[in-house]
Amino acid sequence: MRNPDQSVQSAFFADGTGTSNTLILGSDTAVISDAELLLAAKLLQDGETVAFPTETVYGLGGNALKPSAIRKIFEAKGRPSDNPLIVHIADLDALNGLVAEVSPLAETLMTAFWPGPLTLVMKKRPEVPSEVTGGLDTVAVRMPVHELARRLIRLSGVPVAAPSANLSGKPSPTRCEDVIRDLSGRVACILCGELSEIGLESTVVDVTGEEPVILRPGGITLEMIRSAAGCGKYDEAVDRKILEGEKARSPGMKYTHYSPDAEVILFEGEPEAVAAEILRRAAAYTLAGSRVGIMTFDERVKIYADSGEVLSLGSLERLDQVAQNLFQTLRAFDSGKIDVVLSETVEDSGIGKAIMNRLIKAAGYRVVRV
Ligand code: AMP
Ligand code: MG
Repeated sequence: MRNPDQSVQSAFFADGTGTSNTLILGSDTAVISDAELLLAAKLLQDGETVAFPTETVYGLGGNALKPSAIRKIFEAKGRPSDNPLIVHIADLDALNGLVAEVSPLAETLMTAFWPGPLTLVMKKRPEVPSEVTGGLDTVAVRMPVHELARRLIRLSGVPVAAPSANLSGKPSPTRCEDVIRDLSGRVACILCGELSEIGLESTVVDVTGEEPVILRPGGITLEMIRSAAGCGKYDEAVDRKILEGEKARSPGMKYTHYSPDAEVILFEGEPEAVAAEILRRAAAYTLAGSRVGIMTFDERVKIYADSGEVLSLGSLERLDQVAQNLFQTLRAFDSGKIDVVLSETVEDSGIGKAIMNRLIKAAGYRVVRV
């Protein structure tokens, strides 16, 4: 799915976006030197914004203890200021300055899944600026496993607040070139690394009660949480639209997410019926003058030959790869100036739950059951 000729630097220069105040370090092939990493860490410590790779998606980091740094993050992304950020740490010691207490439940999940793609929502300490938490009395904390991310955080010497490094509302970036496209000229520094391994944002779990409650599904599945903690559930609002004026348990649930410029429509049902309906609609849209994209899987690409721009998310047998490819595929439809994307879907369990959660939001809840 990647174009081997399109190295990060050449994509950057070909774009003509220019560095305009954004320092770009490393690439998807070159290793970042210690001196470069130190420079990025110093920028973070000083209250500047630095984008960096993690195992989930690229993050846009700022010193979590400096309200001015947090404001820069919100401004660069165009993110609503009541949508709180996840604070990233490299060592358990850093928790002391952030959370009021670590409950036995929180400790169990940390032992099982940290470092890794799991974010825990806990009662915050007063020192955590309200800018980070959107005014809530809780703070979301994660310890990433990505080596470069950990070294950067450790070198900065501060907890690092980092939402995904995309413009608010757009698909999250899994490649450095996506970060450059969205944020060049808007942030102090972008650290380039490889394609994000997981490709979906972390699982967010509220551990302030007796039972873990998943606020956002991700690479750590409900089944994994249950096997570690003995219990666990999804928040009832995980996959649905938040009504106007309704207070969401996780403020991010209120906002539009992962939207490419193209309109996305999902199709669920028996595979043959789904294919027939997608082919029928593709023909109708094409006739009406729209450029049609079809998002499918390796096993089913052939069905749609010549029906539009057909992109595969990977094999249905490898949902981990589907997860990894999802956001870059959504972005690819925009590069191809597609008007409408007709998309197949996956089983709603395991990692499939997280994939479907992102797809449903990308589609603005437009799901056709055939
Ligand atoms: P992002 O930073 O784009 O990965 O999104 C972070 C997600 O975590 C958003 O959906 C937030 O609403 C959610 N989140 C962050 N902090 C909290 C918190 N204290 N309580 C509930 N949800 C949170
Ligand atoms: Mg995000």
